[in-house]
Amino acid sequence: MMTRRQALKTTALASIAAAAVPSAMAQTTPSAAASTPFTLPPLPYAFDALEPHIDARTMEIHHDRHHKAYVDNLNKALIEFPDLTNKTIEDLVKDPSVNRTVWNNAGGHYNHALFWQMMKKGGGGEPKGELATALAASFKNFDNFKTLFTEGATKIFGSGWMWLTLDQGKLSMETTGLQANPLISGKQTLLGLDVWEHAYYLKYQNKRADYIAAWWNVVNWDFVAERYAKLK
Ligand code: MN
Repeated sequence: MMTRRQALKTTALASIAAAAVPSAMAQTTPSAAASTPFTLPPLPYAFDALEPHIDARTMEIHHDRHHKAYVDNLNKALIEFPDLTNKTIEDLVKDPSVNRTVWNNAGGHYNHALFWQMMKKGGGGEPKGELATALAASFKNFDNFKTLFTEGATKIFGSGWMWLTLDQGKLSMETTGLQANPLISGKQTLLGLDVWEHAYYLKYQNKRADYIAAWWNVVNWDFVAERYAKLK
């Protein structure tokens, strides 16, 4: 039997997860075990869907091992901090004063749950509509945006992420180290690129620039445009 507190915790975290990352998380049945309230969202496509740009083996390890480890380690760490279980995943990500293990793994979970949706089979090309207009207004034109984003991602020293962010309606770019997310400074992320070596090393080894060039071919601009329309 679940205690009332465990039941509340499970319900609260399940609804938080669904709200944070609707399409992937909503399909996930919340775990009945109150000690593991966050669940790994399924990859929204097959492991080989992003071939040849991102190989199936990398996707399998990245999702089933790396992302799963963030979820498992977050749940494990939260057991020691019952006062944090009523926080949303976004609350955890945006608060650097929470326990470091919780914060690191919350970021890992949040970032990857978004990242899978930011890619798709047959992606790439250029965005259309409002997002295209906004990118051109902020970065002159799409090619210039792509150049600046690529440069930023290439220059990240060590493990981190390159982001296209939305800050009070304005588009901007920034990098974060490790699993930090721009939510920490109040910005929403529209597009993100994982440049941890685990994201590309099997296929690209030390050639991060080749991985970045290939990644543009799988960007899910429909998802980014929907996110922009919702968050702007
Ligand atoms: Mn990763």
